Amino acid sequence: MTLPAASTLHTGYFTEGLAADPELAAAITGELARQRDGIELIASENIVSRLVLEAQGSVLTNKTVEGLPYARYYGGAAFADVIEALAVERATRLFGCRFANVQPHSGSNANAGVFLGLLGLGDTILSMDTAAGGHISHGHPATLTGRDYHIVRYGVNRTSERIEIADVRALAHTHRPRLIVAGGSAYPPALDFAGLRAVADEVGALFMVDMAHFAGLVATGLYPHPFPHAHVVTTTTYKSLRGARGGLVLWNDEALSDRINYGIFPGVQGSVMMHAVAGKAACLGEALKPEFRAYNEAVLANAQALARTLKAAGVRLVSGGTDCGLMLADLTSLGITGDIAAKALEKAGLAVNKNLIPFDPRPPEAPSGLRLSSNAGTARGFGAAEFEAIGRWIVEVLKAPDDAGLLARVHDEVRALCRRFPIY
Ligand SMILES: *Cc1c(COP(=O)(O)O)cnc(C)c1O
Repeated sequence: MTLPAASTLHTGYFTEGLAADPELAAAITGELARQRDGIELIASENIVSRLVLEAQGSVLTNKTVEGLPYARYYGGAAFADVIEALAVERATRLFGCRFANVQPHSGSNANAGVFLGLLGLGDTILSMDTAAGGHISHGHPATLTGRDYHIVRYGVNRTSERIEIADVRALAHTHRPRLIVAGGSAYPPALDFAGLRAVADEVGALFMVDMAHFAGLVATGLYPHPFPHAHVVTTTTYKSLRGARGGLVLWNDEALSDRINYGIFPGVQGSVMMHAVAGKAACLGEALKPEFRAYNEAVLANAQALARTLKAAGVRLVSGGTDCGLMLADLTSLGITGDIAAKALEKAGLAVNKNLIPFDPRPPEAPSGLRLSSNAGTARGFGAAEFEAIGRWIVEVLKAPDDAGLLARVHDEVRALCRRFPIY
């Protein structure tokens, strides 16, 4: 019996690409057009380089490895070892620490792995309330971390809209946490790492910083450094680090190494997503170059330009402004809620997300705020003049969210600006 050659069974399998699936191709092409012609202001997004795109879309997706570099359970891992070791070495050099685990599939997994490795079931974690800007993966009741640990929340002061160390201290002394977590997804001011570490020391807790929204600024010296204060630092790699999807864990104390590494694998994950690790190696390599410092300087200058423009138009910013790339606009004075604002802005080509403000009298579905970030616009080359224009467009739209003619006109102007700063 003669079997047909594999090539006739799978015509085009290794050559055709997306053209083989027009339905999927159309949606991906649509997304590319959306990214090209719209302005991305959502703080959890950024725009990666062609290098990162290629590394993450590479043949590494075919390789399954478990364990750490040069200590794998499967064979054939020689190149996977090189890639992961490169990512680890670059991460530790970038953040000036001794150890890194580059395997977390996401920021949430990085956090869950650290909790699993360092804590026992039912231990107390003192973390920031989501309603005040904390992240859901720091113990929100809807997550596994919220179920497995005893979660105590700290928030911000009602007047300053900042974390007051005295408040964290009082909670820590009352609840004696094993772990204190800092770093959120909607907290614009700089964090006081030394102050929080002092509180952790007073109660014998470990101190973890999740720097997802300011990792790029930390890497380039433009934001306070969590080390040496933090025992462990986590981050995503696709927000301010401008890279591959995924997470990182960083630390200095060798005594924590096994617990953290086992917390990630097999604690909360199985095999490594090697294509994502290749993407992380690529973006960490970029982050070590002088251009990344220039990018982050522009992130800050552009955030200030946007903040200035909004404030000049009477929009209040939570905590008065920002020390990083992200800010929270309180829309109360404009008489519009975040959900309606976000929908109107999307129609005008401006992607933002609705967000609770501290002590928000409104519900999460229709909150008082919008979260904005300069990360992605800066990646495509926008400067202060462009972010001032963005600020003016936002105000125009928020003052007339139902004016279809105005939304269409702003969308045309947004598209014209984007075409002057093309991507891919
Ligand atoms: C985005 C974010 C995460 C979660 O990242 P995922 O990759 O979505 O799991 C964790 N922590 C903080 C502070 C974040 O902003």
